Amino acid sequence: MRVSRLLLVTLRDDPAEAEITSHKLLLRAGYIRRISSGIYAYLPLLWRVLQKISTIVRQEMDATGALETLLPQLQPADLWQRSGRWAGYTDGEGIMFHLTDRQGRELGLGPTHEEVITTLAAELLRSYRQLPVNLYQIQTKFRDEIRPRFGLMRGREFIMKDAYSFHADEDSLRQTYAAMDQAYRRIFQRCGLRAVAVEADSGAIGGSASQEFMVTAEAGEDLILTSADGCYAANQERAVSLPPAAVPLPGGSRAAGAGEQLSTPNQSTIEQLCSAHGFDASQLVKVLLLLARFADGLRQPLLVSLRGDQQLNEVKLANAVSAQLATEHGALLSIDPLTADLVRSEKLPLDLGAISFGYLGPDLADAVLAHDPTSQAGAAGGAALPGTPPIRLVRSFLRLADSTAAGLEAFVCGGNASDSHRVGASWKGLALRPEPLDLRAAQSGDRCLHDPDQCLQSARGIEVGHIFQLGRKYSEALDARFTNESGVDEALWMGCYGIGVSRLAQAAVEQHHDRDGICWPVAIAPYEVIVVIANTQETVQVELAEALYGELSAAGLEVLLDDRAERAGVKFKDADLIGIPWRVVVGRGAAAGQVELVCRAGGAKRELDASAVREVLELEIGRGRMGDGLGT
Ligand code: ATP
Ligand code: MG
Repeated sequence: MRVSRLLLVTLRDDPAEAEITSHKLLLRAGYIRRISSGIYAYLPLLWRVLQKISTIVRQEMDATGALETLLPQLQPADLWQRSGRWAGYTDGEGIMFHLTDRQGRELGLGPTHEEVITTLAAELLRSYRQLPVNLYQIQTKFRDEIRPRFGLMRGREFIMKDAYSFHADEDSLRQTYAAMDQAYRRIFQRCGLRAVAVEADSGAIGGSASQEFMVTAEAGEDLILTSADGCYAANQERAVSLPPAAVPLPGGSRAAGAGEQLSTPNQSTIEQLCSAHGFDASQLVKVLLLLARFADGLRQPLLVSLRGDQQLNEVKLANAVSAQLATEHGALLSIDPLTADLVRSEKLPLDLGAISFGYLGPDLADAVLAHDPTSQAGAAGGAALPGTPPIRLVRSFLRLADSTAAGLEAFVCGGNASDSHRVGASWKGLALRPEPLDLRAAQSGDRCLHDPDQCLQSARGIEVGHIFQLGRKYSEALDARFTNESGVDEALWMGCYGIGVSRLAQAAVEQHHDRDGICWPVAIAPYEVIVVIANTQETVQVELAEALYGELSAAGLEVLLDDRAERAGVKFKDADLIGIPWRVVVGRGAAAGQVELVCRAGGAKRELDASAVREVLELEIGRGRMGDGLGT
């Protein structure tokens, strides 16, 4: 392809809309253009990258025996109602774009395809003899992300490879899950990405085991925690660790009551309390006041106790709250801090009186939720939006405690009064018996569970893939059953496996660039070689470059010819920016049959005879296409 015909529009300056390097580079180098928030046009150069990634994904999926298919993006609401996910995906912070058709039927634009595929499985799969089967597609997904950002990293319309497997038993599911794990490792390696597999939270998809693949990069949105021995790696959302031991509260073993009052004006934070009284943060129990909203209209106030030196892991909290209430009340829509603003906007009958947030204790009375019930129409029942279930507020707290807090014999906590705390309180003394839960965020420096001599280290990662053992959640909900070997009817076992194809393309740029531009790994580069004519006024240069372009193309290499009547410097800059792995410069040496070969990654240069170029490049590019994908 001739660069003069490529519709190449590069930008000299960083576009204001882009925050991270890969996003800036894709915009500047003419790979993408923004159409609207989280919605991008994939320009011809990027489309070639996406096709190459898709080919690698296809080859590796096919090699495992998976079957390619293409499912509808318009999905009827009733399938999602049957799985119980419609409300969670469309109300509250739900991310499904949804619409009503001319017949008044509700539809969603596919953010994922468990419902559709399980419905098909229910019709197509009848006998254990048809199992296992694994179906995949590469297709545009739609998600109305709360914070679309970083270009292709978090789009509202993006390309995903998703696969769904069906099995007669859990063992077979585990085998396919392991095969997908291996296929994913090969895919990322062939794409030239350094990716690590980490334990992951299963989120709204549900199911038991799940693993994410993270491309390590500073700009990553995820925090991953790993042990130095390589035995443990997890997304922080899911990570577990040994908490540091608490510093015992002096005289704590005698604590039996509700503690002694301590006057603490202007000491509403952990830091203020500790510095005023010499406490260690691990001697404190802090209390968070939150509100959980459920699909059936239930509003459940939460009172969460954490040890003062620990942070809340919101994902673990959401899982714990769902585990207690979602079966009865439908999807958990959101958990928000119960701030004064929320109390006002949701018209909640909460009245803390003179107690401010820093002074709450775990035994805060349910009576604070009994405030003026008659005038609070919106909260105590009734006024909901048309078509949504009536809101019902529970007038008692769901009290949850992290095990670090629950395990304290004696502690300091808020006095449930203005300007006072209690010292030497105990759970028994507060007449509470908290069930110890894991709600704390593991963090860098914590000791590992598998080996307390190892500490967790943190790194940032971009999630490019996620594999799940779903179990029978969807097959049971959507009645996808088969007859097993003994002639008994049972629900299918399922797994699902996603790769963010468009996110992966940008993640590759995040990992492979320098200050001049992108350095594509050969395997996913839009073109493999660019032949640059230094001066198009010079016939010798033009002729030699044309000859090389023909020869290299005929040899099956993917070649660009920069034939533009621009200054050589401009063309070199563009070649660096768009990141073609190999550059052949046809310049002054052309008369003597000499050209310059430049490797984009690292910038190594060598002069060589034009007649030798093809052989050198075939070798180098051949390695890059097949091998570790870096190839340069
Ligand atoms: P995240 O945690 O980043 O929101 P997810 O857990 O919602 O991702 P999955 O539902 O597992 O993602 O989707 C499979 C893959 O699709 C992800 O691993 C990711 O690579 C990609 N992906 C998910 N959401 C987006 C998005 N908004 N834009 C681009 N790629 C995405
Ligand atoms: Mg995820």
